[in-house]
Amino acid sequence: MKNSKRILSVVLAAILGVSLLAGCSGSKSGGSFKTVQSGKLVMATNAAFPPYEYVEGSDYMGIDVEIAGEIAKKLGLELVIEDVDFDSIIAGVQSGKYDMGMAGMTVTDERKQSVNFSETYANGIQAIIVPEDSAIASVDDLSSDTSIGVQQGTTGDIYASDDYGEDAITRFKTGTDAVQALTTGKIDCVIIDNEPAKAYVAANEGLKVLDTTYVEEEYAICIAKDNEKLLDAINSALKDLKSDGTVDSIVEKYIPTEG
Ligand code: GLN
Repeated sequence: MKNSKRILSVVLAAILGVSLLAGCSGSKSGGSFKTVQSGKLVMATNAAFPPYEYVEGSDYMGIDVEIAGEIAKKLGLELVIEDVDFDSIIAGVQSGKYDMGMAGMTVTDERKQSVNFSETYANGIQAIIVPEDSAIASVDDLSSDTSIGVQQGTTGDIYASDDYGEDAITRFKTGTDAVQALTTGKIDCVIIDNEPAKAYVAANEGLKVLDTTYVEEEYAICIAKDNEKLLDAINSALKDLKSDGTVDSIVEKYIPTEG
């Protein structure tokens, strides 16, 4: 009797220790999931990607930031945002540094080998930004002789490197840096997601987004493969937020439908 009590208390202490370390949280759906820090949902993003994530004053803003905030609320967690390089997000999620990555991130088969993806919540289009007086009028005018700027590790980088070769590509840490190089004539165009492209063009004179689609994609949240419970909890929160119109109203706030 004494012995079994002692064993029980050792087991309980071990469980407590593990849950403190892993930050266990319960989900409303009945299953339980773990997060990196107890009571928190740590989201890795690259906050130079308006209107999905950007910094205004000392606040993080954007579609992803607000959807993540709603998800955290549904899961009873506090949202914590880590602003990191885009190409370090997946590795950080994989190694358990962050609970999830949300960064206008496109679902690709290659990324699916490293992480799980939630249901998608938005569509993206790889677009082309050029100076207003550029001779490049459509995607057909791009070639291995074009100097193409991309954000490192993004799908724009991956597809353009494949299509036009390494020598045509100049990689930048953020879309903002790529656009800066375009405005100073260092490169001929930038390939980047459509909505950020529009935001950059609005913020920088003398540029335009070509009315041509390079690649169409879907955005989702990435989560570590060994945290399926968190994936389920995020998916169920996302489903509710889509069906009750929350996702649509957040998108409408940042990308108002014309007319
Ligand atoms: N959608 C692109 C990708 O997933 C770019 C995302 C980003 O730059 N934040 O690669």
